[in-house]
Amino acid sequence: MNRNDLKSPIATHLLSAAANRLYIDGEWMDSASNAQLECVNPATGAVFAQVASGNTADVDLAVAAARRALDGPWRDMTPYERQAIILKLADLVDANFDDLCLLDSMEMGAPLQRLRANSRKRALGRLRFYAGMATAIHGHTIPNSAPGRVLTYTVREPIGVVAGIIPWNAPMTSAIWKIGPVLATGCTMVLKPAEQASLSCLMLAELITQAGVPAGVVNVVTGLGEATGAALAEHPGVNKVAFTGSHAVGQSIVRASAGNLKRVSLELGGKSPDIVFADADLDKAVPGAAMGVFGNTGQVCCAGTRLFVERKIYDEFVQRVARFGDGLRVGNGQDPAVEIGPVVSREQMERVLGYIDIGKREGARTISGGARITDGDLARGYFVKPTVFGDVEDGMRIATEEIFGPVVCAIPFDTLDEVERRANATAFGLGSGVWTRDINKAQRLSRTLHAGSVWVNCYNLMDPAVPFGGYGLSGYGREGGTEHLDEYLQTKAVWINAG
Ligand code: NAP
Ligand code: MG
Repeated sequence: MNRNDLKSPIATHLLSAAANRLYIDGEWMDSASNAQLECVNPATGAVFAQVASGNTADVDLAVAAARRALDGPWRDMTPYERQAIILKLADLVDANFDDLCLLDSMEMGAPLQRLRANSRKRALGRLRFYAGMATAIHGHTIPNSAPGRVLTYTVREPIGVVAGIIPWNAPMTSAIWKIGPVLATGCTMVLKPAEQASLSCLMLAELITQAGVPAGVVNVVTGLGEATGAALAEHPGVNKVAFTGSHAVGQSIVRASAGNLKRVSLELGGKSPDIVFADADLDKAVPGAAMGVFGNTGQVCCAGTRLFVERKIYDEFVQRVARFGDGLRVGNGQDPAVEIGPVVSREQMERVLGYIDIGKREGARTISGGARITDGDLARGYFVKPTVFGDVEDGMRIATEEIFGPVVCAIPFDTLDEVERRANATAFGLGSGVWTRDINKAQRLSRTLHAGSVWVNCYNLMDPAVPFGGYGLSGYGREGGTEHLDEYLQTKAVWINAG
């Protein structure tokens, strides 16, 4: 499939030279500088569109629009009205889903096959979940011990203007994970997509307007992290930053937020352990562990990149994961038969190949992959072979740093105590997996692993009603679940003296 398969006028328009605009206050606007960023298809290396590169002046306009919108008709909409709008948005996303997927696939390489299977459920499920939550926000009536007849109750109010800053690995669904709670709680927002993947976010802006969201409630300012993103993170008119990305940028967001003490939530990266015991159902564990790393070409924040395998089955298991990786159909994600696409950019490919070299130099054994794919047409794109490293030691850089590519470190272990200690010997704490038929092992590790999610006999399952987020350097705050809404609300206590 290619750009000719786009069906909606807005998606087609976004690829035309006339587009290249920011979405501010319900309108398409030129950026102040007229600077542009190129959209490169990582499967071919070809430039296929441009987006505007916003600067501080654009951010000022967008934040001002979001602030005005907070006090406009949006403020007086009832929970039912907000709910109806979110449900309408879900229907529009459903109706335009193929185009949103194709834009994401062209920009960041994800296979259409995967997007259609996983992302539809995620995107629509999230929006419908937040539609429900829009009518479920409430405070408490609290008996107090003040003298006289004083009524006290709490009210949950929107926190205000939210800056949503997201990465490129799942653009549409990451954006929806910010837009959903904004609309459910009555906040407003400025969304800054990743420079490598902005188009589906721009298309969502248009759909949000079609759904009946008032102008200025959701604004999209495309641009570079160090300019647009940094301007949002330090902007005095922003009340909260909802950030998804790397831990290094997360730390800079926290520093930038200090000026007006913004609320910050951080969904960051990880080096997640996936632990396979000899008693596991290996026919399930092999594909589960393999896709826990190779899915989305390894560009998944909670990828199970430290694969701990009980020594008794280590050789057999690692060979099977390697064969599974070798059998995956790697190619241009716009081909519906392809299972694994390219990595997002030349820069990311070089970073991943750099880590593969480091692993080899550190003495890890390359069991499979370990190189760029240069066959035929794929030579034009940024393809890396699914790679399994064996004999990996805990201290190696490939076992401690996030690679964000299709590379797994297979590490043998002997005992439960040992693997528990080694799995937790990381500053991160996002995902974790345990494969076993022994309920005692599963119970114990689900209690002791330092991670925001523990998957037992599965990996990377998600549901909008279930909170997702990190421990330690993987960040704080949760997306999904009722915890997510709390991040976008503040509590007011009201005292009414009835005399
Ligand atoms: P990144 O470099 O941290 O960028 C994330 C976003 O922040 C982008 O929009 C980026 O803009 C922007 N940014 C960069 N520098 C900034 C600054 N100084 N101030 C404000 N914003 C700035 O991450 P990435 O490379 O796009 O994505 C990969 C990372 O995201 C990985 O670490 C991955 O684990 C993490 N991730 C976490 C989750 C989760 O839910 N926990 C989900 C997905 C991804 P530019 O695009 O212009 O650089
Ligand atoms: Mg970046």
